[in-house]
Amino acid sequence: MMETMLDIKALEGQYSSGIYAKRDLVITRGSGALLYDEQGSEYIDCVGGQGTANVGHCQPTVIAAIQEQIQKLMICPEMFHNPTRAQFQARLCGLVPGMQRAYLCNSGTEAVEAAIKFARYSTGRPGIVAAMRGFHGRTLGSLSATWNKKYRDGFEPLVPGFSHVPYDNLEKLQEAVNDSTAAVLLEVVQGEGGVYPGSAEFLQGAQEICRQRGALLIIDEVQTGFGRTGQMFAFQHHGLQPDLVAMGKSIAAGIPMGAVLLGERVTQLSPGVHGSTFGGNPVACAAGLAVLDLLEGQQLPQRAARLGKALMDEIAALNLPAVREVRGKGLMIGIETRGKVAGLLGALAEKGVLALPAGLTVIRLLPPLVISGEQLQTVKQALIEVLSA
Ligand SMILES: *Cc1c(COP(=O)(O)O)cnc(C)c1O
Repeated sequence: MMETMLDIKALEGQYSSGIYAKRDLVITRGSGALLYDEQGSEYIDCVGGQGTANVGHCQPTVIAAIQEQIQKLMICPEMFHNPTRAQFQARLCGLVPGMQRAYLCNSGTEAVEAAIKFARYSTGRPGIVAAMRGFHGRTLGSLSATWNKKYRDGFEPLVPGFSHVPYDNLEKLQEAVNDSTAAVLLEVVQGEGGVYPGSAEFLQGAQEICRQRGALLIIDEVQTGFGRTGQMFAFQHHGLQPDLVAMGKSIAAGIPMGAVLLGERVTQLSPGVHGSTFGGNPVACAAGLAVLDLLEGQQLPQRAARLGKALMDEIAALNLPAVREVRGKGLMIGIETRGKVAGLLGALAEKGVLALPAGLTVIRLLPPLVISGEQLQTVKQALIEVLSA
């Protein structure tokens, strides 16, 4: 080891952009649902790479797929055909009946940007209706759809044409969607906003309003996709047929990738309408194929449904005084506390459990879906201890 831990922290403290609130940990290795710091201490990872590690860290089959591809070809712009990409696009479309094509990019925010452009292109209309508390990314288009001032302040003027309605309020949505609306853009479970699952009535109603008014329905599955909530995609809990589905995070096990699925109501896109240099690169596609094999072969969405429900029921049944509400879907879990969570996250880390916040008062758990029942019990014990302290 050339650098000591102190050197590493000092180096990043000095040279990294400064836009991340750092935790006092140097993470060097991961395996399944576990992370290790450079001294070898082990942590159960309920940050899950910010929701990118649904199949677990460093899965051998993902590593093998990447290695095999990287020795053949690392980059291949979409102007050329490529067998790995062709397979991946077909597999991705095959996950959702009615999906015709897949656009590939490199992150969640890029997927949302593309979906917004495709909706405007397809309808010839400018308007995008999104939800309060919604999060869709931080580049200027997706930031315009993101609601919270903490992300927007200081960056205005944002893109014109965006409006926000209260989540889960069908009347307000009804009022907001009109004949200049290109699309309604929604999460099925609001993630960054505090882990709020939408109701079936709201989401199905939103789809109906879109159909009636000639607008498209864009579902942002960046955080909820790839098994997280107990279905491959969260909209499948409610039988929705979105027109555009934005994906990212766990799509390629941590290799940067985003995607948009395009349904039947999206106009055929012509060459040059949009594009991405790295989009559809074969290494990410190889990782994505290995992810789909794991999710399907090990029935990880079903596992997330089972384990997540059990953990939520168990925590709720404890009636801990510090807990206001436990909510979520599958292994996307929010624990709303009566106080601020920043200190609680530090206390959890000291007990070997890494977790995320969602806003100021919610502890958010996004563990890899391969997490064992025993590991989840350790998480539960740690939560009980810090929430009872
Ligand atoms: C994380 C997230 C994004 C943005 O993804 P990035 O890869 O960070 O750009 C967009 N939408 C939702 C719902 C997310 O959770």
